[in-house]
Amino acid sequence: MAGGQFVGVLACNWAFVFATIVTIIPESETRLPRRYRGVTAIYPGSFDPITNGHLDLIQRGSRLFDRLIISVLRNEAKQPLFSAEERMEMLCEVVDEYSNIEVDSFHGLLVDHARTHSATVLLRGIRAISDYEYELQMALMNRRLNPGLETVFLLANEAYSFISSRLVKEVFSLGGNISGLVPPSVEERLKRRMSKLRKKGA
Ligand code: ADP
Repeated sequence: MAGGQFVGVLACNWAFVFATIVTIIPESETRLPRRYRGVTAIYPGSFDPITNGHLDLIQRGSRLFDRLIISVLRNEAKQPLFSAEERMEMLCEVVDEYSNIEVDSFHGLLVDHARTHSATVLLRGIRAISDYEYELQMALMNRRLNPGLETVFLLANEAYSFISSRLVKEVFSLGGNISGLVPPSVEERLKRRMSKLRKKGA
């Protein structure tokens, strides 16, 4: 085979190999930076404030998915105790050691937010039957809005299944002990916020 022909055959083969690789890797994957290839999951919630129940779910989610984004819902209608910025700060403080976890916020449709991150999974937790009904409704609606987005439920750790942000705030405001229910940095913030509110009220 002449030199020119040999180079031509080689180039042809490489073009075939390249085309095959591009076909195997979906387009959305090739556009992502290398470290983000794989499954991106979004863990949405109010996190007002983050509890050890949330944290347990986050730790397990970070092992299951390549990238986990904790997305704070900006919904002022819910009259949160902490602003979205404060909730994000508290989250960042406690997930600092995890290299595949990010924290952000969103408003509007969760499916749109997931699309902007090329996320294919929504992570949610189930503590009891009472969570299931609401979560089922949300998951089915999100599936209708975007069939490519899968909701994955993790069962709450039995040690934390009774914890909710609402109950923690209620117990703390009445002087109850909440150590072990929220990270220490969150307990400190709660102390400061409650004493500020009491001074305002006095
Ligand atoms: P939302 O306002 O969306 O319910 P939350 O911050 O209360 O936001 O909860 C976010 C998600 O975390 C929900 O799926 C909820 O079921 C889950 N979750 C909340 N507390 C716990 C807990 N103690 N253990 C496991 N999952 C939890």
